[in-house]
Amino acid sequence: MRKVSVFGATGSIGQNTLDLIARAPDGYDVVALTGGRNVAQLARDARAVGADIAVTAYEEELPVLRDALAGSGIAAAAGEAALIEAADRPADWIMSAIVGAAGLAPGFRALRHGTTLALANKESLVTAGPLLLAEGRAHGATILPVDSEHSAVFQALVGEDMAAVERIIITASGGGLRDWPVEALPDATVADAGAHPNWDMGQRITIDSASMFNKAMELIETKEFFGVRPDQIEAVVHPQSIIHALVGFRDGALMAHLGAPDMRHAIGYALHWPDRRHLPVARINLAELATLEFLAPCDTRYPALGIARAVMETGGRAGAVFNAAKEIALDGFLARRIGFMDMAGVVEATLDGISGRFRLTDAIDTLETVLETDHLARVEAEEQVKKMQGRK
Ligand code: NAD
Ligand code: MG
Repeated sequence: MRKVSVFGATGSIGQNTLDLIARAPDGYDVVALTGGRNVAQLARDARAVGADIAVTAYEEELPVLRDALAGSGIAAAAGEAALIEAADRPADWIMSAIVGAAGLAPGFRALRHGTTLALANKESLVTAGPLLLAEGRAHGATILPVDSEHSAVFQALVGEDMAAVERIIITASGGGLRDWPVEALPDATVADAGAHPNWDMGQRITIDSASMFNKAMELIETKEFFGVRPDQIEAVVHPQSIIHALVGFRDGALMAHLGAPDMRHAIGYALHWPDRRHLPVARINLAELATLEFLAPCDTRYPALGIARAVMETGGRAGAVFNAAKEIALDGFLARRIGFMDMAGVVEATLDGISGRFRLTDAIDTLETVLETDHLARVEAEEQVKKMQGRK
């Protein structure tokens, strides 16, 4: 039986992954499930799939997790070191679906064992793309994209020669505030930005969709994963979220990937790759859809996209700074310390302010450099949030 682990099992991607695992008639041998504070859920899922071990990221949650697993024979562990230890447990396939920069280290560690890493954690590629890919290559590991757009590109590229690729277009729904007047955006609340028209996702990524920081991350993710130049990557607003991405070839052909907005498609593709198996996702009726719309994203409405372009041109440590600053800015917005449009201001000011501490163009050559960059960027971003808050 295939051995699988799910990092971030209690989250939106993790739950969809467990849903597919539970449906497989031949079954999987589940090794490790990890989660955060939702330990009751983690224990329930670990029991349901018969995992060997359940790990919470937070040490203080360990007693509760242990209690919830009592009598099950499933081991319980907690903390960052335990997450790394879970990554050392042999598995053929691992879902990397922890949210944020915290997802990098466990996924990176798993590559050492030559596993297949299904990568939902886009932050890993944004902060440390070249390092992660090199680690995978060095150990004969396979990294498969799980972000819906990148899975779509990956599927459109099957059997194609990368040298024939002219451009990659990823689509964006435009998020929950797409139809708001630009002047009203500074007043958008957490509840306004936290409602998504098409996708059911975790809170952080839903707000990142409204600000397009999610798409900004995905532009960088595209550059890193597919090794194309920044000027070959485009984002287009597509309110129906039916086409997830398109690949343009040098003969002018565009190959599009269409699918219902359901993450189980991209997760299932990565789970069964290189096969295609039946998946429990809605089938598209084109005549019922009737219209698919496309709009150029507006720079004033979505400043995150321009910042991402600058980050891609800079390379080096800029992605790690961008990601850390975005996470702190989002924390600031969630805590009602700064406004919706201030998030972009914080990220830009952090990229500018950090240049005094190191050169953004310096290469990311070890995991330690990434973690150090992440830490310094968080300190700088926190300063910027304070300044922004003072101006409110
Ligand atoms: P989520 O918030 O629903 O779940 C996150 C998971 O990570 C949970 O299991 C949580 O317990 C765990 N976690 C949180 N903080 C942690 C920490 N510090 N250390 C260890 N574990 C921690 O998030 P999600 O929406 O499932 O997204 C997961 C990842 O997948 C993100 O990187 C996101 O960008 C990416 N992604 C999500 C979607 C989607 O549809 N939800 C689509 C594409 C990509
Ligand atoms: Mg996506």
